[in-house]
Amino acid sequence: MEQKDIQQTVKDILTQYLMQSGMRCTPERYAILHTIYEQKLPFTVDDLYALLDEHYHVSRGTIYSALDLFVRLGLVIRHPSTSIEQYEKCYGVRDHFKQVCTHCGRVTDFRSQIVANSLATTHYTRFRPEHFAVCVYGICSKCQAKLTRQQKKFEKEKERKSAESKKRKQTIENGKQS
Ligand SMILES: [Zn+2]
Repeated sequence: MEQKDIQQTVKDILTQYLMQSGMRCTPERYAILHTIYEQKLPFTVDDLYALLDEHYHVSRGTIYSALDLFVRLGLVIRHPSTSIEQYEKCYGVRDHFKQVCTHCGRVTDFRSQIVANSLATTHYTRFRPEHFAVCVYGICSKCQAKLTRQQKKFEKEKERKSAESKKRKQTIENGKQS
């Protein structure tokens, strides 16, 4: 589906829900949804707030309640178990393969035809699968490099301290001898 069609379809899903549940079709909700579907990457509430602030003045409370609604409508997914809460559009994105850094919370994509095939041929019990999300948790290369640097610094400091204390001991020993 083309990006333009997806924008229209998600807008229609929202309108239908709002009309059925007797809620007001406020322009803010549509602006939030439109902005979300312009994003290619996962985003935080702060990211969304900053993006919207250029055109609309929408409170964080409005953004949170809109996101809750979009998650319920299957238009947005909330990435679980990261240090920062991140969301991402999901309508028209058939399969989500995500690698999640547990240190910085960065969510990136990966591909796996084997997992996709395996899930497609899985027998589901009284259930019709529509789409899926696979999250793999770990450490991104940026954080790994940072951790390695910290570890090296720590080792160096330990070495320096031990050499210093050896030297001090030696000085005391020498003092005793003279
Ligand atoms: Zn990271």
